[in-house]
Parts: sequence; C-alpha cells; structure tokens
Amino acid sequence: MTIKSLIRTIPDYPKPGVQFRDITTLLKDADGLRQVVDALVERYADANIDKVVGIESRGFIVGAAVAYKLGVGFVPVRKKGKLPGDVLGHDYALEYGTDRVEIHSDAICPDETVLLLDDLIATGGTAEAAAVLIEKLGGQVLECAFIVGLPDLGGQQRLQALGYKTFTLCEFE
Ligand code: 5GP
Repeated sequence: MTIKSLIRTIPDYPKPGVQFRDITTLLKDADGLRQVVDALVERYADANIDKVVGIESRGFIVGAAVAYKLGVGFVPVRKKGKLPGDVLGHDYALEYGTDRVEIHSDAICPDETVLLLDDLIATGGTAEAAAVLIEKLGGQVLECAFIVGLPDLGGQQRLQALGYKTFTLCEFE
C-alpha cells in the first residue's frame, strides 16, 4: 500500500470542520513505516547531515528512526516548558493566540547541517519557528521534510518564500 493510502482521515478533529490526517495508521503498518523511513534516508544519505531535528511529538518518531539510519544525532524541538536544560524559545502565531517552541541551547553547534522533520505541514508556522531556532544556534537548515503536506494551507510556499527547501512524501487537498 502507498504511504498516502495508509493515512487515516478523522473528520471534525480536534474541532468541527478540521480533517485530521492521522499517521498512526501508517506508523503501525510495518511496510508503511519502512517506506517512510527508507524514502527519507535515501533522500538524505549523501547530504552530509550532522543532526536531525524533529518537532514534538510525531516528528520524534520518524526523526529518531531517520537519524539512527543516517548515523547522526537526533534533537527534539518541544512545546514550551518540556525541556529540562537551558533553552532557546521562539513564539509563533496560531489562528487564535500564540504558541512557543523550544530547543536546548547546546543542541546544535555552529555550522552544523540540519534536517528538520515533522509529520505534517499545514500553515508552516511550527516548522518556521523550529527553523528559526536552528538558525539562532548557528545551524544550517538543509531541508524541511514532512510525511504529509497540505498545500492548500500554504505552509510549503511560506517556508520557500523564507528561503527554506521543503519536501513532502505525500499531499492531501
Ligand atoms: P502548522 O504549524 O504547519 O500549521 O501545523 C503543523 C503542526 O500541527 C505539526 O506539528 C503537525 O503535527 C500538527 N498538525 C496539524 N494538523 C495536523 C493533521 O491533520 N494531522 C497531523 N498528524 N498533524 C497535524
């Protein structure tokens, strides 16, 4: 089965009108999980990546597997207040209000090449905030990669307009 066909859509979650793309059905499928990890590892195998950064929480699952296979370290970007050490934070706008993501201040060294990974890009706000944190630590974002893109929500265009390369394994309208 294809990656896209293994993703389940839950209508009206977490609120009415939202079509939530649920990747747990992809992750629980051994071949689906392998397809995702193998496709990303193949894409970045020769890219001289130093670190994979995954965004909480579904970005951790695939991010850690890809980092392991690439033979590099994994760094979590987490929601506010979850990381125990010294952190750098960045606020970003939501539909209503703001949110904040954080990274450990010593997680990335200057000039390290970083692959940013998350399960899904919608408006791009979360990935942009994570990319800003990586750059504040001196890292270079090689590409922002996602299992799922929702092009109608403009996230990929937004990141590209800021100079980031993006990659998605599948897209939903
Ligand atoms: P954005 O900041 O691009 O608007 O939203 C992306 C973030 O929200 C990602 O961290 C992603 O995990 C989460 N997200 C938003 N909508 C969905 C969805 O339909 N499915 C999944 N799996 N995650 C979503």
